[in-house]
Amino acid sequence: MAYVCELGAGQRVYLENQGLQTVVTLMSSSPGQQQQASNSFTTGVWSSPPQVFQTPYGMVLKITSEQGEKTLQIQGSGVSVISSMPLAKDSEQLPVHEVATLPVSPMPGVESLKPMPPMKPMEPMNLNMGNMQMSMNPMEMRMGNMGMRMGSPAPQNTPQTQRFCTQCGASVKPEDRFCSSCGHPIHHQ
Ligand SMILES: [Zn+2]
Repeated sequence: MAYVCELGAGQRVYLENQGLQTVVTLMSSSPGQQQQASNSFTTGVWSSPPQVFQTPYGMVLKITSEQGEKTLQIQGSGVSVISSMPLAKDSEQLPVHEVATLPVSPMPGVESLKPMPPMKPMEPMNLNMGNMQMSMNPMEMRMGNMGMRMGSPAPQNTPQTQRFCTQCGASVKPEDRFCSSCGHPIHHQ
């Protein structure tokens, strides 16, 4: 059981009753980033859907449960319990819609989740990836050199002086004058 209320200016609040806890999740989205902060309050099991009021003092949440009423006030990105509904003539009740699930369900029992840090954790990762790419480039070049080295010694290892007997085909040493197999004279060229 969760409810969402559009607060305007890209900000919305999700209200979820988890056991005796009311989890208030503030989500603010602006171009390029999205922030989310959850606060959990012991309110008891809701006996009626929560109410959201827009007052001159900020957004006020009214949670009605079997244990009574709890009034929460949203100030900036934080939510705090206030003693009672602020008396204001021009308080306006905002429509609250029931939703099946939260976009990201907060962990039960977590008192407060700090807003996601926008981009700072990503910066060192990008730098590391840049260093890896830079160190990988010489590795590729070294691999290319190794390939050239592996190819060049091969012709040198081929025995240019190896000769074979023209008569019987046996291998003969360069210093041999006659084939050791058939005695055919070796003509060194
Ligand atoms: Zn021979």
